[in-house]
Amino acid sequence: MFDKLKAKLNKYVSNDIGIDLGTANTLVYVRGEGIVVNEPSVVAVNQKTGQVVAVGTQAKDMLGRTPAHITAVKPLVGGVISDFEVTEEMIAYLLRRVEGDSRKLLGPRVVVGVPSGVTNVESRAVRDATKNNGAREVYVVEEPMAAAIGIRLPVKDPIGNLIVDIGGGTSDVAVISLGGIVRSKSLKVAGDKLNEDIISYIRTEFKILIGEKTAENIKITIGSVLPTSEPLEASIKGRDLITGLPREVIVTDSDVREAISGSIDILIESVKEVLETTPPEIVSDIMNRGGHLVGGGALIRGIDELLAEYIKIPFTIADDPLSAVGRGAGIILEDLKKYEEVLIQNEDDLPPKK
Ligand code: ADP
Ligand code: MG
Repeated sequence: MFDKLKAKLNKYVSNDIGIDLGTANTLVYVRGEGIVVNEPSVVAVNQKTGQVVAVGTQAKDMLGRTPAHITAVKPLVGGVISDFEVTEEMIAYLLRRVEGDSRKLLGPRVVVGVPSGVTNVESRAVRDATKNNGAREVYVVEEPMAAAIGIRLPVKDPIGNLIVDIGGGTSDVAVISLGGIVRSKSLKVAGDKLNEDIISYIRTEFKILIGEKTAENIKITIGSVLPTSEPLEASIKGRDLITGLPREVIVTDSDVREAISGSIDILIESVKEVLETTPPEIVSDIMNRGGHLVGGGALIRGIDELLAEYIKIPFTIADDPLSAVGRGAGIILEDLKKYEEVLIQNEDDLPPKK
């Protein structure tokens, strides 16, 4: 009886949706289905007409290969919303992907993750962009909070939790307790910076020029922050800086370690800084429970061990670290009442003060 009624209602009411608007990847969770979209956060725009040509994977494939008047734009750069219109296009595309052409009478309720420390104006803009595209209700949550929920940390308890999210454009270090972010720091040292480090190291050491995609491939296939049990190497092709001709070289794990070591030091320092200003009770919880690594950068070989060595607390790499925020947005959706207090409220959405 109840199921029949529910099926009938489903014809008119959209499924709730969770969105992780990452600097590198965007994920969409649909209630009852799980994660259904996982695409690069890239929008290709025709500068002559202002029209959007492609979004997601299609747009990323265009990066570096487009004619001059088509530019691939990332809606989020360095953890801030760089272009509101492009962000809105990205959200419009995602909702279309999920909803298809069958717009329902009642649009979805949407939970959106945004980089930690976004301004009120930015979270407002994300909220409006989502509403303008047919959402019935919009809830905004900071990404480290969503990630912590996604990996099932007890965020509402009086216990300190440490999250280190190493994404594409930014890394976020956050201490969470009692449903709130107690201390946090966002830095621009993350996956993209490591790619740049590799490009410039190879330019200096091997005198060849490689592209961003090649650098990212090297990082993923042979990147590490501690010596690996077996040596790893990759053969790469680039343009010789002197002859201008293509040339192939062999790069090893130790080359990559050297290339990225400066950035990794900055990351470690940032975790230290956050812990240094965290209240002692919470630090003691974190010492007992350890820190948690999420985001694509959590997959760099040895990052957990290296952090443990320098910070003197254990670190765990979350299962499927790239989807932690998306899963968290989904968990929040499934129980909005329970997670009400962890969401960002815009001032003008709050009931008037008495
Ligand atoms: P964001 O949340 O900012 O969109 P993600 O959490 O999706 O970022 O992580 C994307 C970053 O993770 C990219 O810089 C990518 O190169 C990097 N990455 C993905 N897989 C790996 C891997 N196995 N090793 C190292 N870095 C990785
Ligand atoms: Mg992220």
